Amino acid sequence: MELPFAESWKIKMVEPIKKSTRAEREQWLKEANYNVFQLEGDQVYIDLLTDSGTGAMSDRQWAALMMGDESYAGSRSFYQLKDVINRITGFDYVIPTHQGRAAENVLFSALVKEGDIVPGNSHFDTTKGHIESRKAVALDCTVDEAKDTQLEIPFKGNVDPKKLEAALEQNADKIPFIIVTITNNTAGGQPVSMANLREVRRLADKYNKRVIFDSARFAENAYFIKTREEGYADKTIKEIAHEMFDLADGMTMSAKKDGIVNMGGFIATRHEDWYEAAKKFCIPFEGYLTYGGMNGRDMAALAVGLDENTEFDNLETRIHQVEYLASLLDEYGIPYQRPAGGHAIFIDASKVLTNVPKEEFPAQTLTCELYLEAGIRGCEIGYILADRDPVTRENRFGGLDLLRLAIARRVYTDNHMKVIAAALKNVYDRRNEITRGVEIVWEAPLMRHFTVKLKPAGK
Ligand SMILES: *Cc1c(COP(=O)(O)O)cnc(C)c1O
Repeated sequence: MELPFAESWKIKMVEPIKKSTRAEREQWLKEANYNVFQLEGDQVYIDLLTDSGTGAMSDRQWAALMMGDESYAGSRSFYQLKDVINRITGFDYVIPTHQGRAAENVLFSALVKEGDIVPGNSHFDTTKGHIESRKAVALDCTVDEAKDTQLEIPFKGNVDPKKLEAALEQNADKIPFIIVTITNNTAGGQPVSMANLREVRRLADKYNKRVIFDSARFAENAYFIKTREEGYADKTIKEIAHEMFDLADGMTMSAKKDGIVNMGGFIATRHEDWYEAAKKFCIPFEGYLTYGGMNGRDMAALAVGLDENTEFDNLETRIHQVEYLASLLDEYGIPYQRPAGGHAIFIDASKVLTNVPKEEFPAQTLTCELYLEAGIRGCEIGYILADRDPVTRENRFGGLDLLRLAIARRVYTDNHMKVIAAALKNVYDRRNEITRGVEIVWEAPLMRHFTVKLKPAGK
């Protein structure tokens, strides 16, 4: 008989988590104003809020922490980190930062100016923020297929070369660089193919532009290339990652994702002029060049994390778990963004809570229902997150209304996935009885989702 799949690690340390009663959760959710960001971590049984900084470090990473060198300048841990990054990416210049958005802040301070246009595939919200706050435009050139949640294609995160070329043709002089997000987080953790990265490079060369990879989940992207793209089955993840980065000029990285550390990030590039320009902003914003925003020990743990998470077995365990959860949802008929992404499942709330009007925020309602059902905390990626139109102040109902279930790396077991799927099924089974959603009591003018106060609609 064929042996079943199992994790590529065993467990050395455990952290107890607590269940609660429905009555307790009703009280806590009310106190949190129906906004799960306002819950205390201890009020959550299974936490799927984000995969950022929530992963479990390995024994080798914890050992590396003890070996960290806290020298202000020239830390040994910095050189270890730089060596690993150089080996994986081929980039010679490395600047550590305290997280991904800090890498964006430092590099974009040097590269982006008012009136610029930065084309890419679904810029992440901090990336967009760092472009727009400099009065530049983040131009989304993602393939149109990404918007159809039920369409099953292997590389739904791709850049549309036609849209990119149109932007280059019309505005070449305003484009400081092209940015490609791997995997495409906003489109549901969907990967970008090597062929697409090559096409972006070809267009960049044609118009004499440089390319940055926003690389938070580059290892998961390499895994999808290996398992889905013709010609890569026999290559290692490290070979594929190197081939990907051969097509870029530099990268920004949130190490809280594929670096499997709780905090950290970096910039890396092959170009001395970019490094020199970024250096000037690293020192005042982050810190001296050989630590940026990081402790020596954290750089040491990140060096190990990057090395481990560019090995096939580790990635296979992770992606398998996300796909396992998706297979249970398939069994129950629950609609989600297909195919399953690398780091999360996105439930299509507008197809589940069909009786809740959009004005009463179906995805947020589903987020609350899942928490009440089993103490599981997901995250609304929908109409509340979309904020209001800056000019008309109307809610933006044009995009998708999703409940994201982000899976932390190496934290939960497949049994937890069964609990998540069963809890969702229970909500799904009574979906037709859910006719009212939530309404806003108070909201911040910008980024309202973190602090918004809500109440059950009509009550
Ligand atoms: C998380 C993330 C960032 C920002 O990184 P932080 O570490 O959260 O500051 C940027 N881009 C992508 C694609 C991300 O997922």
